[in-house]
Amino acid sequence: MAAPCSFPGQEMGNFFSSDAFPPSPGCYSNHFLEGCPLLLCKQMTYTDDLPQISVVFIFVNEALSVILRSVHSVVNHTPSHLLKEIILVDDNSDNVELKFNLDQYVNKRYPGLVKIVRNNKREGLIRARIQGWKAATSPVVGFFDAHVEFNIGWVEPALTRVKEDRKRIILPAIDNIKYNTFEVQQYANAAHGYNWGLWCMYIIPPQDWLDKGDESAPIRTPAMIGCSFVVDREYFGEIGLLDPGMEVYGGENIELGMRVWQCGGSMEVLPCSRVAHIERTKKPYNNDIDYYAKRNALRAAEVWMDDFKSHVYMAWNIPMANPGVDFGDVSERIALRQRLQCRSFKWYLENVYPEMRVYNNTVTYGEVRNSKASGYCLDQGAEEDDKAILYPCHGMSSQLVRYSSDGVLQLGPLGSTAFLPDSKCLVDDGKGRTPTLKKCEDVLRPAQRFWDFTQNGPIISRDTGRCLEVEMSKDANFGLRLVVQRCSGQKWMIRNWIKHGRH
Ligand code: UDP
Ligand code: MN
Repeated sequence: MAAPCSFPGQEMGNFFSSDAFPPSPGCYSNHFLEGCPLLLCKQMTYTDDLPQISVVFIFVNEALSVILRSVHSVVNHTPSHLLKEIILVDDNSDNVELKFNLDQYVNKRYPGLVKIVRNNKREGLIRARIQGWKAATSPVVGFFDAHVEFNIGWVEPALTRVKEDRKRIILPAIDNIKYNTFEVQQYANAAHGYNWGLWCMYIIPPQDWLDKGDESAPIRTPAMIGCSFVVDREYFGEIGLLDPGMEVYGGENIELGMRVWQCGGSMEVLPCSRVAHIERTKKPYNNDIDYYAKRNALRAAEVWMDDFKSHVYMAWNIPMANPGVDFGDVSERIALRQRLQCRSFKWYLENVYPEMRVYNNTVTYGEVRNSKASGYCLDQGAEEDDKAILYPCHGMSSQLVRYSSDGVLQLGPLGSTAFLPDSKCLVDDGKGRTPTLKKCEDVLRPAQRFWDFTQNGPIISRDTGRCLEVEMSKDANFGLRLVVQRCSGQKWMIRNWIKHGRH
């Protein structure tokens, strides 16, 4: 699995080379405040009657110096009449310096400003944020990781947008603090999207934002990266905070995006409000965040995604009926959805995340095995080869096959947004015996990408009538070659079948 959040350039294809969306001009700086200020933001003015904010930082085993840096930064870069309090939530850290030393330091330096909440067992980031919310008393609350720095002017635009409409969740735009040099790197403006595994990623802002040509305008976003958000305190309570049944890490940031939109609110990135965050390579807590991200993603899927929840199961390649993951009890969250009378996931996709690819006509998914080659699975092989192969089964994304009701066999990881390539189609082009993988839209004769396939039966090309089969061959890898040939009765099995339940 990729890192939890992928960054522009890695995931956004030609994001930086797009003419419509020019890059930030080399915004590396040791002087955060001088790094590429947005001219339009500097010209904005704000009213005097903005609501106060409580700033919540959560941490576990963070370096003391880094926590203090976050605290100093928010004090120095927030007008004092707007900053009511700082709440530090210690999610049961082990480091002794985070106990007495931290208390003593902040109380002496900022008497009366800082509250410290200590969890006496590890709650995970989701419930840690909820603890911070419970301790907060201002009309607006900001939630941050404890390894961030605030740019000048970060709070006024955020408070203004919340004051105008209490149902808006505001995301300060994130910049990067390099973990090894603390150099700040300004990112291009982006919305926060996700893939079907519910891992967040930066995406290109909506077309109407780009067309407007105003880099200071709020950017509609389907979800949030999660390390920084600002919300009306009472409204956040009304819509159900974060899902307290989620554990450790992951998924809560996407769930909140789905929920706020489906239940009548909105979420936006505010380019004039900038917070930089240290992207670290190693986490000082539980290593198995993949497992928790999967578990939490299933909770979000079960509550908010209606029939589209199959996409989450497909992305993680787990069966829908017995997923083998105990995601706990979601009945209270389903009741919340009913109480708030929220819209469908289909509405949300169409109106808030139209860039997302959907795979609604998938009937089966997972690894595909041939009865003649036990332990081997269809695999997309090397990216540049465009040839399907057989490879020892491992169930990871290169072996993820989807077969649709119209007869398309796609091989490789489930696609996400239209900015990124979709997985390729298995094709019998009729020339030779090697099945190929092609971009589905590039297949000249559409029939070449259609196959008949039933569980424990042959896979037959609708164009040539030939079968996908396995041939034993000494000079092939593992002694097995994947071919299309005259059907000899070989049988294939695919792992999972989609069941669309009621919702
Ligand atoms: N966190 C927490 N309890 C946990 C795991 C994480 O309080 O069990 C906090 C962590 O200290 C950080 C925030 O959750 O402030 C997000 O975690 P992290 O920064 O590791 O995630 P990333 O930003 O790298 O995605
Ligand atoms: Mn972080």
